[in-house]
Amino acid sequence: MENCIFCKIAKGEIPSGTIEETNQFRVVLDVSPATRGHALILPKAHYTNLYDLPEEMAAEAMKLAQKMAQRMKERLHCDGVNILQNNEEAAGQTVFHFHLHVIPRYREDGQKIGWKPGEPTSQELDEIRELLG
Ligand code: 5GP
Ligand code: ZN
Repeated sequence: MENCIFCKIAKGEIPSGTIEETNQFRVVLDVSPATRGHALILPKAHYTNLYDLPEEMAAEAMKLAQKMAQRMKERLHCDGVNILQNNEEAAGQTVFHFHLHVIPRYREDGQKIGWKPGEPTSQELDEIRELLG
């Protein structure tokens, strides 16, 4: 993936202030962080998003997220942590190389990660269960 910025960062071709590295992943700080300590978990190999990420890599990414979240609690003394991952433009993905956001949260950090709660009918819920189950 020649022009993928996260390929270059993950492979160490662009210096990025690594905070954790494994054989298959690099963890760096987000350049436009939501909060102090906002980190990105990047596979060194290129995968566009969760759909094409091998399941062992998905498992590894979540293990790293856990490790980073624990470290953020310990060292940044954050009050909470969001794990976030966007797939495709409609879901807010802007860099098309899989990444997991690990976002430390602080009481009154002024950030809002959420959605407007829907009000489906029980029939709509039944239909969706039918489709997804
Ligand atoms: P997405 O919206 O695709 O889930 O998240 C992309 C994230 O990558 C954003 O939070 C953005 O700030 C971050 N980002 C974009 N370009 C760079 C970069 O060159 N370096 C780093 N460290 N983060 C980046
Ligand atoms: Zn890439």
